[in-house]
Amino acid sequence: MGKLTGFMDYGRKDPGYRPVGERTHDFKAVELRLTAEELVEQAARCMDCGTPFCHGCGCPLNNIVPEWNDLVYRGKWQEALDLLLATDNFPEFTGRICPALCEGSCVLGINKEPVAIRQIELAIIEKGFELGYVRPRPPKVRFEQRVAVIGSGPAGLAAADSLNRAGYWVVVYDDAAKPGGILRYGIPEFKLEKAVVDRRVKLMEEEGVVFECKTRVGEDVSYRYLQSRFDAICFSAGAREPRDLKVPGRELGGIHYAMDFLIQQNMRLGGEPVDSAREILAGGKRVVVVGGGDTGADCVGTSIRQGATSVTQIEILPRPPDSRSPATPWPLWPNMLRVSSSHKEGCERRWSVATQTFLGKDGRVTGLRCAEVEWVAPEGGGRPVMKEKAGTEFHLEADLVLLAMGFTGPGRNAIVDDLKIRREPNGNIGRDARNMTSVPGIFVAGDMTHGASLVVRAIADGRKAAEGIAAYLADRKPQGKA
Ligand SMILES: Cc1cc2nc3c(=O)[nH]c(=O)nc-3n(C[C@H](O)[C@H](O)[C@H](O)COP(=O)(O)OP(=O)(O)OC[C@H]3O[C@@H](n4cnc5c(N)ncnc54)[C@H](O)[C@@H]3O)c2cc1C
Ligand code: SF4
Repeated sequence: MGKLTGFMDYGRKDPGYRPVGERTHDFKAVELRLTAEELVEQAARCMDCGTPFCHGCGCPLNNIVPEWNDLVYRGKWQEALDLLLATDNFPEFTGRICPALCEGSCVLGINKEPVAIRQIELAIIEKGFELGYVRPRPPKVRFEQRVAVIGSGPAGLAAADSLNRAGYWVVVYDDAAKPGGILRYGIPEFKLEKAVVDRRVKLMEEEGVVFECKTRVGEDVSYRYLQSRFDAICFSAGAREPRDLKVPGRELGGIHYAMDFLIQQNMRLGGEPVDSAREILAGGKRVVVVGGGDTGADCVGTSIRQGATSVTQIEILPRPPDSRSPATPWPLWPNMLRVSSSHKEGCERRWSVATQTFLGKDGRVTGLRCAEVEWVAPEGGGRPVMKEKAGTEFHLEADLVLLAMGFTGPGRNAIVDDLKIRREPNGNIGRDARNMTSVPGIFVAGDMTHGASLVVRAIADGRKAAEGIAAYLADRKPQGKA
């Protein structure tokens, strides 16, 4: 550990954000960065806590946090980078957009504010790029075996990167114009600038990974084709089936899924054409975002930047407590109110609100009729049941409604359906302990198998699938086909 008394000498310091009045006029990254001195102080706050829950319980990648904190404190950036990259393929993504599950289980967080782990992680990888420590390192030895990865989100990228580094030939297919999945097309530029995704994709290409974009596997490319050219397949096609709100008026114009809205904005910023007949824009509109999660918050920030006249976000669940709920004691990830940078830009938030009906005129939405709800625990236990509160109906005016109520699963995929790959009862793709599906040689990773989750979990699962694929291929002759 760095400084024995660091956790007593220094408080937590977060870098904060660019001023609201400035940042809402552009889509550039909103979060600032800690200075070199502040980083050393934050690293010094890491205690010699015996059992580092951040590493073993908090971080899905098992990032070796205390050790790299110590190395940063001592100015050993190259060693810190090597240690970080040993467990995390893409710290430049997690360092920017991970909710920092590790910080929820930091021992210092029991009675003080946790160590600013995510900021230190980001500093290590960015220092690595700045000082030229991160450079293409293609494998010295190659196997003959080839792997097709379907989907270039964080799970597919992590699987491809790990397999390529292990010496396998990897081709990544994606139906979008550019690689990155939700990293590129879902998460707004102001949270994750796409130059960061481009930089990593370029590095992977220089190391030998091939990207075949604008190719929908199952339609443009058949299973027969993949089977004849590859020794294993990794499905990492995400879980993009949006949850709908089937109440009267749903057919009205001006009601859209959040992802359609967010994808368009990212395409615009990326210089990709957007069909003008299908454009969804918030400028000059009263926007209501249905769904109180992160995707909803991204819609809030994007609507504000597009010039919405008002933005309201409604959520059916009750308002979480301001601090850690007793139901999620340390070291669990705390259930508590989260206020994103977008919420601070001018948005009204309401909780315990159900939508009864969409209202409209001339085929377009003009508002929502809502009611307050309460969540009642059934006698004898069980999950709380929602009940509308009588006499609480109210009306919200809206010209644009964005549905951000989560995702129900991976939806249909021609190959999965044709091969009758086993699905879990909830529709997710089933797998064994090595991430292999019910069809030998076909593996799965990320949201497609564990349901819509987080970038850090997708990376961890991509790494796990890569290990499973490597073990499967090692058991087979090099020429063997899946
Ligand atoms: C708006 C939004 C914001 C989010 N913000 C955060 C955040 O701040 N932090 C965080 O940790 N998590 C966030 N998440 C969650 C996170 O982005 C996902 O959990 C993660 O991207 C899942 O990775 P994945 O690789 O499994 O799938 P995806 O990222 O969905 O990638 C799947 C890829 O497969 C492609 N594909 C699908 N079918 C085919 C096919 N048949 N042929 C070829 N390609 C195909 C898709 O086009 C896509 O590119 C957010 C999610 C959303 C929707
Ligand atoms: S990836 Fe996320 S959970 Fe893991 S150490 Fe980094 S910020 Fe923490």
